[in-house]
Amino acid sequence: MNKNVSILGSTGSIGTQSLEVCEKQGFNIMALAAHSSVKLLSEQVRKFKPKYVCIYNEQKYAELKDSLADMDVEILCGMDGLCKIAALEENDIVLNSVVGMVGLLPTLTAIEAGKDIALANKETLVAGGKLVMSKAAEKGVKIYPVDSEHSAIFQCLQGNKRSQLSKIILTASGGPFYGYSYEQLRGVAKADALKHPNWDMGNKITIDSATLMNKGLEFIEAKWLFDLEPDQIEIVVHRQSVIHSAVEYNDYAVIAQLGVPDMKIPIQYALTYPDRFECPTKPLSLTDYGTLTFAKPDSETFKCLGAAIEAITRGGAYPCLVNSANEEAVRAFLNDEISFIQIGEIVSSVLDKFGYSEINCYEDVMDADKRAREYVRSLI
Ligand code: MN
Repeated sequence: MNKNVSILGSTGSIGTQSLEVCEKQGFNIMALAAHSSVKLLSEQVRKFKPKYVCIYNEQKYAELKDSLADMDVEILCGMDGLCKIAALEENDIVLNSVVGMVGLLPTLTAIEAGKDIALANKETLVAGGKLVMSKAAEKGVKIYPVDSEHSAIFQCLQGNKRSQLSKIILTASGGPFYGYSYEQLRGVAKADALKHPNWDMGNKITIDSATLMNKGLEFIEAKWLFDLEPDQIEIVVHRQSVIHSAVEYNDYAVIAQLGVPDMKIPIQYALTYPDRFECPTKPLSLTDYGTLTFAKPDSETFKCLGAAIEAITRGGAYPCLVNSANEEAVRAFLNDEISFIQIGEIVSSVLDKFGYSEINCYEDVMDADKRAREYVRSLI
């Protein structure tokens, strides 16, 4: 398979695994972009020889330029650079794995340019779901989910009629604090929150997994990707992360997708759809697991989850507000400015703080984002 792939967020967990998949499948890397990891980005440029490279943090531009002085590569920076890469004429597909709602504008730019997207940046759909999906439909652009749960749902939809789908079952690992009471969550330390039982990921998503905000964001992401009502999405805690999600049809047949917890499988499917090739991971042995367990999530103790579901049920700017508030709260937690339970308290307080407002354009998203961040900073 010959494909030109550009990767936004190439030095992160998804980005590095995506490069492994691209190498295995022999894809051509057209462009790479990273937030600020100059050293790893330079190494990637030397290995994959892209035509363009971008560093988002403009203060690192000179350093990147120096380190690649002997290379034939066009060096870009900032949001302009990300958007230029997203819209490259040569792109067959853009893999967006940046962290946070910074990813929204590059996604919209790729869609505007008619480029298909492998989407790992869930905040894109949480903050701007309506904009992104309507623009993609208008331009005939395909959005392939990279998130393992959404990839699972996408796989379970193949060969069936979308109109006969009744609901989806979104599985959740439960994170490192599964079963904790609210009192127990008070004593949680940063190092414990940064340890995930099944997945090895970046800091932001690891904290989101510990608070269950990640599942809340995925609930919203699923609503937009698959055009569902909130009451068609059931979250089930499945500690082993072997069933990556399932769908139920109107005859009550349930189809699930299983595999070892390795992001390279959903990454590769997003890049090779509808084809399947051997993936650089290991096969699933169900008998090694022996037992798979299922339980209801606790959205009262894990306030972020309840807040995210309430936000998408209310609609308008609420999902964007809770997402931006969460980004700021997680940043404050990682800087030791607030405790673990304060993340949930801050995120859920957004629902009382702000009245309903609409999202009709990119500026509306940016406005809601600004209001939520200012509010959170005023609390810290
Ligand atoms: Mn996921």
